[in-house]
Amino acid sequence: MKREIIANVLPEETRIAVLEDGQLAEFMIERPALGMAKLVGNIYKGKIENVLPGISSAFVNTGFEKNAYLYVTDVVSPSKDRHIEKMLKRGEEMMVQVAKEAIGTKGMKVTMDISLPGRYLIYMPISEHVGVSKHIEDPAERERLRRIVEGEKHTGGMIVRTEAEGADEEELKSEVKYLAKLWEGIQRKFETAQSGTLLHRELGLTFQVARDLLNDDAHIFLIDDRDEFKDVKGFVDMLAPEFADRVQHYTGKTPIFQAFGVDRELAHIRQQRIDLPSGGYIIIQEAESLCAIDVNTGKFIGHKSQEETVTATNLEAADEVAKQLRIRNIGGIIVIDFIDMRRKRNQIKVVEALENATRNDRAKIKILPITRLGLVEMTRERRRESLLSLLSEPCQECAGSGNVLSRESMYLKIQKEILEMTQGRAEGRLKITLPPGVGDFLRERQDRLEKIIKRPLTMTIDPTLPWEDYRIVID
Ligand SMILES: [Zn+2]
Repeated sequence: MKREIIANVLPEETRIAVLEDGQLAEFMIERPALGMAKLVGNIYKGKIENVLPGISSAFVNTGFEKNAYLYVTDVVSPSKDRHIEKMLKRGEEMMVQVAKEAIGTKGMKVTMDISLPGRYLIYMPISEHVGVSKHIEDPAERERLRRIVEGEKHTGGMIVRTEAEGADEEELKSEVKYLAKLWEGIQRKFETAQSGTLLHRELGLTFQVARDLLNDDAHIFLIDDRDEFKDVKGFVDMLAPEFADRVQHYTGKTPIFQAFGVDRELAHIRQQRIDLPSGGYIIIQEAESLCAIDVNTGKFIGHKSQEETVTATNLEAADEVAKQLRIRNIGGIIVIDFIDMRRKRNQIKVVEALENATRNDRAKIKILPITRLGLVEMTRERRRESLLSLLSEPCQECAGSGNVLSRESMYLKIQKEILEMTQGRAEGRLKITLPPGVGDFLRERQDRLEKIIKRPLTMTIDPTLPWEDYRIVID
């Protein structure tokens, strides 16, 4: 498989697309200046403002307007007594790392258990444990990795990430050194900094991608901004010099996302309906608690048997579902309603196709067997917010429901409002301004309406009005 990574860096937005064999496979976005700031992972020198034993929490000033929230289980302390008031004192200064962004009125959540992710390792300087990701199954490989990491001098704990499987001993050693040096720097800064100071900033999106995705499979990492390119190249030179050549500056005249056909694919990213090659289609409905995907046959094609056609459509759908979940970064519970298949053999085939198609996905995925009604439940690890929630907000016209009042309902609502305004009196003209769809419907029924409201009506259509909006004026 040929993997290409392309980055479009704009003043207030960075977009990264991962292409596999020329097809869009993953899409990431970062808008730091617009509040879509990635604070998770940042480390600050904090100061305890308040200890609240009643809720086992403390509030920490990290230099933001709103104090951060530190829960008792995230406190690191030598104290045997695990009551928060025994471990922390008001005014005390300490190092904290952002664990969760602020959401709504809630401040951000911080932890004292610092972790510094590298390419192959996660350094946890405060703990002592050395662990190996459970996704690395081969016992000999687990032992080899553990031995290398334990053999290299560092204080604290280390977690070996799945990505380390098969990694070179020298690479791992140099990463331990790099992380240990990074930690030293952070500690030094802490000594002299005032509370509320940022001690360490989590890497920006392009750097994270360079760290996590630039490997043997990735043939090229193209960046269209000169400065960003230089910085990322410098970073890769230090972290994984053997891949430094793959980081390149894109200088083409055509915008990079257009040149690689990504813009075309992104145009459909919020659409619910996706057509399948042989006539069927899927509908993706993302809700807060789960994502429902419906598979539908198009017209009946050819003279193959029904069961065969259905299975073929389901197989195409399985591929498309896996692809869309990854591009749209849909996490949590997903329920797929495949078209009913009678034969057990075909049902198994479809679930297997789904499993195969999700193989390149970096997120952890679990697929349950198909139910008697043809439903497949699966879960996909939620690492970041889904693309839909990053890019959109609830529709103002339909309050996010996806539905507005029907033309008939609008017609009756307006009629009722006029009757209430005029109290059945017969004199006076009425002017009404309406949006196009509802306006056309009313115009066709103008005579009827005038009879009911007992007065003439002047109607104006205003295309700028939202669907459910209108103005009524009585002369
Ligand atoms: Zn809407």
